[in-house]
Amino acid sequence: EFSRKLGQSDVFIRQTSSETSLKSEPKDEIGFKGHDMLAPFTAGWQSSDVHPLVIQRSEGSYVYDINGKKYLDALAGLWSTALGGNEPRLVQAATEQLKTLPFYHSFWNRTTRPSLDLAKEILDIFTARKMGKVFFTNSGSEANDSQVKLVWYYNNALGRPDKKKFIARNKSYHGSTLISASLSGLPALHQKFDLPAPFVLHTDCPHYWRFHLPGETEEEFSTRLANNLENLILKEGPETIAAFIAEPVMGAGGIQSVVKKYDILFIADEVICAFGRLGTMFGCDKYNIKPDLVSIAKALSSAYMPIGAILVSPEISEVIHSQSNKLGSFAHGFTYSGHPVACAVALEGKGHPREGPERLPRFQDGLKAFSDSPIIGEIRGTGLILGTEFTDNKSPTDLFPPEWEAGDAGSSLGDNIMMSPPLIISPGEIDELICIYGDALKFTEKKVN
Ligand code: PLP
Repeated sequence: EFSRKLGQSDVFIRQTSSETSLKSEPKDEIGFKGHDMLAPFTAGWQSSDVHPLVIQRSEGSYVYDINGKKYLDALAGLWSTALGGNEPRLVQAATEQLKTLPFYHSFWNRTTRPSLDLAKEILDIFTARKMGKVFFTNSGSEANDSQVKLVWYYNNALGRPDKKKFIARNKSYHGSTLISASLSGLPALHQKFDLPAPFVLHTDCPHYWRFHLPGETEEEFSTRLANNLENLILKEGPETIAAFIAEPVMGAGGIQSVVKKYDILFIADEVICAFGRLGTMFGCDKYNIKPDLVSIAKALSSAYMPIGAILVSPEISEVIHSQSNKLGSFAHGFTYSGHPVACAVALEGKGHPREGPERLPRFQDGLKAFSDSPIIGEIRGTGLILGTEFTDNKSPTDLFPPEWEAGDAGSSLGDNIMMSPPLIISPGEIDELICIYGDALKFTEKKVN
């Protein structure tokens, strides 16, 4: 049945030249080759030579392009449309708020009710430890940028002007503004942008399959990484290191105790993990992380409106409070910080769905069953997030030539595909996704071998 559906419905897992040419080249229909956008994360030749995939409409777990073709949105936009494509509660919340008060700001001790209510709500649902305050941004990048400013402000207030460096992980993604791209550990985000900024240091990527030494167990691997981090801190001087930032899902084994030992703040980047993606409300819940600061965005509003936020521990909020008293104000913020429409939408989505926990193993087990494929090096994931890495001979080092496009070699993340479907995906849709994945894999196996 699913094979029959294949003609009309594709897994929308990536946007590469192969996808656009294989799957969505508009025939005699509308195309926008050579359009006017300087498109994010897109190569020049793609904008000029390939029709962009133009998405027009969404419904539940599906999106439809401008030619009416249907796609199962296996990436939920960009890890973000948790509640799917047309959740009426969110649309109504936005509409009501737009009618009542489309905008008012939060500067100079003015604000709006939805911002106040959302800040309270976020503090209530984050239970990994007690947090003190919420600062609103418009995106995950702005949240991580704000983290750096806030940590510097905090350390200046404490009279520690030298404690300013940040440690992040290789291969991490924390955003693409100057500072968040610096924190990110991806060469593509640095090359030709004169980044990373000098205050950022990068440490090992905790990817066991790719980086473990011969014969090393997972536990030994984690211990080695924690030791490497400690050595880096000692080499730089603990008095110069302000904070460590990582995604909870990238593992914190041993790391928390190292940073605590040297009075280094732990920032959990929950931009993807928060609100049920891993099967728990936050990634910190799942991995028992007690962070000092947290960044959230994406599923906070199910991406219906741009909004991000940072959660600040009571100890840090207290210092910021007294410092801003001395200086006259905490001089940081954005016109749209706490935008009432975005906050109203986020408040409405607060009961993020954790429908049928059995969907999580169905998704994980169903896709991991393809691990034996000769072109798959590793399939890894948890909850409703999963990545497939394509390599030859099951070896992390036997890469396919990028032009073969076994996975998404065009992305900055290597030859792999990523999936994080909407949290509302039904068991039947998960089966459909697995079936389409299987067919695409067979196709790719033939193409590559
Ligand atoms: N942090 C993480 C972990 C992310 O995945 C992303 C975006 O994908 C960001 C930060 C940046 O968020 P934004 O694109 O909203 O600026």
